[in-house]
Amino acid sequence: MRYVNEFRDKRLIDHIISNLRGFNKRDYTFMEVCGGHTYAFHRFGLPAIIPPNFRLLSGPGCPVCVTGKSLIEKAIIYSGMNAFVITTFGDLMRVPGINSSLEKEKSKGKDIRIVYSPLDSLEIAIKEPEKIIVFIGIGFETTAPGTAIAIKEAARKGISNFFVLSAHKIMPPAMKAIITGGSELDGFICPGHVCAITGSEIFDFIPNDHQIGCVVTGFEPLDMLQALYMLAHQLEKSDPKVEIQYRRAVSSKGNLIAKKIMNEIFEYSDEWWRGFGTIPLSGLKLRKEFSSFDIEAIYPVSVIENVDDKGCICGNILRGIESPDNCRLFSKVCNPSNPVGACMVSAEGACHTYYKFKKYD
Ligand code: SF4
Repeated sequence: MRYVNEFRDKRLIDHIISNLRGFNKRDYTFMEVCGGHTYAFHRFGLPAIIPPNFRLLSGPGCPVCVTGKSLIEKAIIYSGMNAFVITTFGDLMRVPGINSSLEKEKSKGKDIRIVYSPLDSLEIAIKEPEKIIVFIGIGFETTAPGTAIAIKEAARKGISNFFVLSAHKIMPPAMKAIITGGSELDGFICPGHVCAITGSEIFDFIPNDHQIGCVVTGFEPLDMLQALYMLAHQLEKSDPKVEIQYRRAVSSKGNLIAKKIMNEIFEYSDEWWRGFGTIPLSGLKLRKEFSSFDIEAIYPVSVIENVDDKGCICGNILRGIESPDNCRLFSKVCNPSNPVGACMVSAEGACHTYYKFKKYD
């Protein structure tokens, strides 16, 4: 298959591994920011074949993992209101709130539906005008344009029963928080899907202001191994910069149309991230002109402040301080059938990935 088989070529993988072995004078600690990369690294068994002086840490790039309980609590309150329908991506269904989850509420009879795109939610709003449809907007720059398009479309069609509960976030402030939080990372493997929208230029501040290298990479074995090679090479040459390995999907400027529509609908807001607390201007809220689609502006609800789960170290994992192995609940109390924290829920969560693939490592 084009764009897959050539990136899984064993001969090339062996070649690049042997090149990585040449970087043997020091240890390297890199963060794969994106949960998709964490998943792919383990899925392909790469931790077992890279040289032992290369250490990889997971980062905050799993949207479900960094989202706080208060979002779930708000959605649960809305789901109990007369004629309200909550629509969401499936990942969010099992994320624990304080005492319940969207999945549990659905089993009690609340109208909570899984959708595959924000436009599906808009479609429901059009077909069921007597209902109030609330789409939970979650994700980074990758999914925010889709939410923006649905809002713009709703405005164009004059749909008045479609709303968004926005928990969208952007990556650069979280990465800055990791750097300024005292991390000793040698480089970042930057999220390929985010950069397909934003362009790699959003990470220019990392080498420019903090002298840490970045490589934007894809999700196949050769992509990720080549990223390790490029980052090690930057360190060898003392030349930190932003490089794009994932050229088949990413440019420095990104998708200008998607960025334009995102900027048209959203503005930056302070946002709470699990493990980080509130990061200034790291969220996306609807602009005033589109506030008639903002469920929190039209039907404000108050919920408890975000809190982390007792005994769960998800927050430290998302900041690259610890790994799932360090959690005393991992696989004993906490597993995919009984997730204690959000990192065990999403397929891109580090704990879920470790649980699923660790045996292959
Ligand atoms: Fe939290 Fe479970 Fe991960 Fe432990 S294993 S950090 S309890 S999600």
